[in-house]
Amino acid sequence: MATLIDGKAIASEVRSEVRREVDAWTSEGHAPPYLAVVLVGDNPASASYVRGKIKASRDVGIAGDTLKYDANISENHLLDVIHDLNTSTHVSGILIQLPLPDHIDSTRVISHLNPDKDVDGLHTINAGRLATGLPGFVPCTPAGIVELLHRSAIATEGKHAVIIGRSNLVGRPLASLLLKKENNATVTVCHSRTQNLGEISSKADILVAAIGRPHFVTSNMVKPGATIIDVGINRVDDATSKRGYRLTGDVDFDATFNIAEYITPVPGGVGPMTIAMLLKNTLSAAKLLT
Ligand code: NAP
Repeated sequence: MATLIDGKAIASEVRSEVRREVDAWTSEGHAPPYLAVVLVGDNPASASYVRGKIKASRDVGIAGDTLKYDANISENHLLDVIHDLNTSTHVSGILIQLPLPDHIDSTRVISHLNPDKDVDGLHTINAGRLATGLPGFVPCTPAGIVELLHRSAIATEGKHAVIIGRSNLVGRPLASLLLKKENNATVTVCHSRTQNLGEISSKADILVAAIGRPHFVTSNMVKPGATIIDVGINRVDDATSKRGYRLTGDVDFDATFNIAEYITPVPGGVGPMTIAMLLKNTLSAAKLLT
C-alpha cells in the first residue's frame, strides 16, 4: 500500500513560509510584492484559476490584481499592456493566464515579458537558464513537483525518473530540474511517439504522468516500490457528483496504489503546489527588483 503524498498539507507549509517571508520583507519597509494577472476572454476555467491565484496571493500578503480584457483584444494592444506592466515599478510579477485566444500568438506575447517578472518561468530566457543549470524563474508546476519530492524525503539522486509528457509547462522543465546537480536523477522523457512506453515506465523509480489523459498509467506500467507523481487534471463525467463531473488524474490511482511506495492524489497532490510556488516566485521577483 502506497503512502499518499499530501500536496495540500505541503503547499500549506510553503504558503506559511512565504507569508512569514513577506511579513519580514514588508517590515523592513518594502512595499508588498505585487502580482499582475492578465486574463483574456471569458473561459470559466481560466477565470476560476485566476481567482484562486489572486486569493492565495492576498492570503500571504502579496498584493495583486487581475487585468481583464475582451477575447477580441488585438495582439498589439496586449503587447502594450505587457510593456506597461514591465516598466511599472510597483509590479513585481506578471502572469499571463493561458490559453490565449487563437488570434494571439502566445509565444510572441510571452517573449515580450520582462524575464525578471516572468513568475510563470515561461520566457525563453528563463527556460534557457533552467536548461543550462543557471538560476532563474522555474515554471510553478515542475518546481512544485520537486518541492513535493524533497519535502517527502524521496531521494532523487541516482534514481531513474521517467516523465511522460514533454510540454514547455511541465515535462521539459521538470526534466531539466531533475537533471540539475542538486537532484542528480537520470531522466527519460516520453511522449506520444515513444515506443514501448510501458516497458520504459515500468523501469522508473520516479514516474511522472503529465499527459492529459484520464487513467493512462495502468498497473502494468509501474515498477513495484516506485514513486508516482500524477500531474493530470481531467474532467470525467460523474452523474453522482452535483457538477456532473469529477476531476481525475492521468494515473489509475486504485490500480497502482498497492504497487507504488508513494503516490500523489488528484485532486490534492500537484495542483496545490503550483499555486504555492507561484507565491514563492512572486516574492523572489519583488526581491530581485530592489
Ligand atoms: P500538453 O501540453 O497537452 O502535453 C501533453 C504531453 O503528453 C505531450 O508531450 C504529449 O506528447 C504527451 N502525450 C499525449 N498523448 C500521449 C500518449 N498517448 N502517449 C505518450 N505521451 C502522450 O499538456 P500539459 O500542459 O503538459 O498538461 C498535462 C496534464 O497536466 C493536463 O491534464 C493538465 O491539465 C495537467 N496540468 C496540471 C497542472 C497542475 O497544477 N496540477 C499544471 C499544468 C498541467 P506529444 O508532445 O508527442 O504531443
